[in-house]
Amino acid sequence: MAAFPEEVTFRLTSRCDFRCLHCDCWLGGPEPDRLGTAAWKDLVSQLVLWRGPGWRLHLTGGEPLLAPGFREICAHAAGLGVHVLATTNASRITRGSLAPLLGCGLQQLWISLDGLGPATHDFSRGRPGAYARAREALDLLLSAAPSAQLTLGIAAIVMEHNLEELPALAEWGAGLGLQVLLHPLVRCGPDWGRLWPRSTDRAVLALERLAALRARGCPIANSVAQLRLFQRYYRDPESRFLKAVCRSGRSLRVHPDGTCYLCDFGKDPVGDAGKVPLKRIWGGAAARARREEIRRCHRACVLNQCNFGGAGSS
Ligand code: SF4
Ligand code: SF4
Repeated sequence: MAAFPEEVTFRLTSRCDFRCLHCDCWLGGPEPDRLGTAAWKDLVSQLVLWRGPGWRLHLTGGEPLLAPGFREICAHAAGLGVHVLATTNASRITRGSLAPLLGCGLQQLWISLDGLGPATHDFSRGRPGAYARAREALDLLLSAAPSAQLTLGIAAIVMEHNLEELPALAEWGAGLGLQVLLHPLVRCGPDWGRLWPRSTDRAVLALERLAALRARGCPIANSVAQLRLFQRYYRDPESRFLKAVCRSGRSLRVHPDGTCYLCDFGKDPVGDAGKVPLKRIWGGAAARARREEIRRCHRACVLNQCNFGGAGSS
């Protein structure tokens, strides 16, 4: 059987209160939130029974803080020695919700922030006020996080409207002690075309500046090699990244209806966590077959941080 997953992702809900142009979560889909809080906690317990403590659990969505059991699931996992991280649009982080959030055992939090002002962030996120909310959340968290032992970061998508802002965003984040994670724009969602860089040269230059910052020690979570591959993607989005290793085969993703996937972009589920134990799904025939396909898959989505396992210069 394949070793225990390098990272387990629970997509706690498909719901989201944002309307990002590059995401179709909010359009609704075939995935009802079938797993409740007790079921998610049971999945954590299954994994701890299998592997023990010390593995990484990533809570995502949709917007994971909209899942009613977010804090309870997080506390359950953290109490069993699991490293819990989450990615959020920060809309639900307020002065009133801060203390319970900080007290639930969460160890790492990525906040989506595409730019240094509302003209950039609100536009891509489809929500007036999105920037103000993210900044308020960051201010609250930064004032509390040192005592809460929570590692904070911001995650931005490389797109037309922030190309010139991204280096400044990275430096601003670094000045606050934040990690900065860059994502290439995945061409999905209702309106990604409005976000795609109109000038390849500008996109390549922005990424060059980011790579230079990274090389000088700016806490950008992507490697320089990965940023170079982003450049190639923006030059030719149909590129195949033959030397890039997709780590999807080593990741287990559970969706809100219980369906399990290795690759989030594939259509082939490998099991139903509502019916079959995760250990059996992970080692089952469907997962093995999917891993073989993943080994031969070199699509551009391999460049996403959650899939990127390293690359040569292809
Ligand atoms: S905040 Fe995240 S989940 Fe929500 S619409 Fe935007 S990209 Fe999708
Ligand atoms: S490259 Fe993309 S589609 Fe292919 S296995 Fe990796 S994440 Fe899935």
